[in-house]
Amino acid sequence: MLGSVIDMENPLSENRILKEQIQKLQKDIADRDWGIKKTNESIRILYKDLEEKNAELKKLDQLKSDFVSTVSHELRTPLSITTEGINLILDGLTGPINDMQKDLLQTSRESLDRLKTIINDLLDISKIEAGKIEIRKGFVDLKEILQKLTDSYKRVLLTKRQEIKVTLPQGKVLLFIDGDKIIQVVTNLLNNAHKFTPEGGLIEVTLTVEPKQVRFKIRDSGVGISQEDIPKLFGKFEQFGRTHGSGIKGTGLGLAISKALIGLHGGKIWAESKINEGTTFQFTLPDFEEAKVEFDKYVDVVLKDALSKQQAVSFLVIHLANFHSLQEKHGNKVATGAMNVICSVVGQTVTRPSDKFIVYQENTIHIILHGTGKEGGFSMIARLKEAIRESSFETVNCGALDLKFGITVYPTEAADRISLEKAAYSLMTDHRH
Ligand code: ADP
Repeated sequence: MLGSVIDMENPLSENRILKEQIQKLQKDIADRDWGIKKTNESIRILYKDLEEKNAELKKLDQLKSDFVSTVSHELRTPLSITTEGINLILDGLTGPINDMQKDLLQTSRESLDRLKTIINDLLDISKIEAGKIEIRKGFVDLKEILQKLTDSYKRVLLTKRQEIKVTLPQGKVLLFIDGDKIIQVVTNLLNNAHKFTPEGGLIEVTLTVEPKQVRFKIRDSGVGISQEDIPKLFGKFEQFGRTHGSGIKGTGLGLAISKALIGLHGGKIWAESKINEGTTFQFTLPDFEEAKVEFDKYVDVVLKDALSKQQAVSFLVIHLANFHSLQEKHGNKVATGAMNVICSVVGQTVTRPSDKFIVYQENTIHIILHGTGKEGGFSMIARLKEAIRESSFETVNCGALDLKFGITVYPTEAADRISLEKAAYSLMTDHRH
């Protein structure tokens, strides 16, 4: 075992040999201990080195993002002034122009439009990466915006004689989303389908209402994407199957932005494709009820977190008491319009990432403010009232908005989500009398 023969006849020599072997083992162990200590130390140094490099890289990445965002922002104004100038000349407002001048100016305008897309994409991606993109959720009928968007897109499709088939569900599809951001995603998907589908191709758009979610699907009969490229599709600056400088232009950012926007809505986006057969993109968005379930889950998480950190949480309710009378007097558009104005004010005022809000009923908004006690909650209500007054929606559209506010604070006034809600509602009722 120990690599030497023990002399059984002579116990003294046996003892000596054993002693020697033990000493050797102890030395071995000490050597190894020393080795392990040294290795540990080297690992610690390496780790520290890595951490420093990591911090440096993060700083550089931040600098790069800030740079991209500042430059893009600064480029926007001169760009729009130049475009405006070209438009004026093309519209003949500065006098007649000949066909050659017109052609040249039109080409310039197309290039400027392309530049604008690139700049907007760069700005969007840098905002997303910095966690600063603003999502202004409100009551939106997704069916209505899809109908309008696809109708107006037919004009673009005509340039390649492509056909579009749109299938929408019956009735409204009311969701709690940022309509502009979802339009941005769908426009990007439509643009891609148009770009990567040959002349005379077919594009099919479908919206379906499913349990807990809605599903948007866009299928084209275009060039397709290879299986190995599909996992890379939603990365930044990914463009496939074309040589540098070839005809089809883009930034390779559209799908990365789309994925982030859908993710911020609690949805998913993915693609399936076959080369030379076509591509299908799909995304889902949680339906109204599901968005409420998600919000409630979030409130539970916030309360748990606050408990462990011994912090307060404010729960606010805003109720548009004359919603139904507005509906009767001025129509549904004005009533939901009023709610959307309130939502957008709330969206601009409740801005900390850990604070969230949701339209809980057609005329009621719930807001959760993490780490905020009664004083903070009341000052938020004051700011909201002021901002709603300033939005001047009331005077323009429908006289006074009869708004009620309720507030309760965890853990002093209620011990869980349900009691927080109940207390906030009952306090709000008290406001009315
Ligand atoms: P862009 O269109 O600006 O290049 P995107 O992020 O929108 O950027 O798309 C990335 C890439 O994915 C495209 O360049 C193209 O190679 C591929 N792609 C996207 N949509 C389609 C589609 N419908 N058919 C074929 N390829 C597509």
